[in-house]
Amino acid sequence: MFKRTLSKEKRIKKDAKVLKKFIKVYCKKNHLKNGVKEYKEGYCEDCYDLLHYALKRNEKCPLDPKPQCKHCTIHCYKPEYRAKIKEVMKFSGIYFLKRGRLDWVFHYFF
Ligand SMILES: [Zn+2]
Repeated sequence: MFKRTLSKEKRIKKDAKVLKKFIKVYCKKNHLKNGVKEYKEGYCEDCYDLLHYALKRNEKCPLDPKPQCKHCTIHCYKPEYRAKIKEVMKFSGIYFLKRGRLDWVFHYFF
C-alpha cells in the first residue's frame, strides 16, 4: 500500500525543505566553491532566485496530490528554470543518494 497522502499544506512544507537542501548543496559545490559570491542565506543570486521560483511553483501546483514533476502533465516551469532545476536535481540527487537519503531523492527526482 501507498503511504497515506499528506495534506496539501504538509506536502508543500516537505517539498520546500527538500528544494532548499537540494539547491543549497548544488550552489555550495558548484558556485560558492568556485568563487561565486554568496547573495543570501547560503545561496548565490541565481540560486536564490531559482529557489524562490521553485517554492512559488510548488505552492501553486494545482494537482493534489502533486505527482513527481517528471510525471506531471502541466510542466509549469519556464524552460530556463526547468533546465536549471533539472541540473540541480541531478547533481544533488546523486549527492543525497550517496548519503542514504533515498526518500528525498525518489520523492523529487525529475
Ligand atoms: Zn548558486
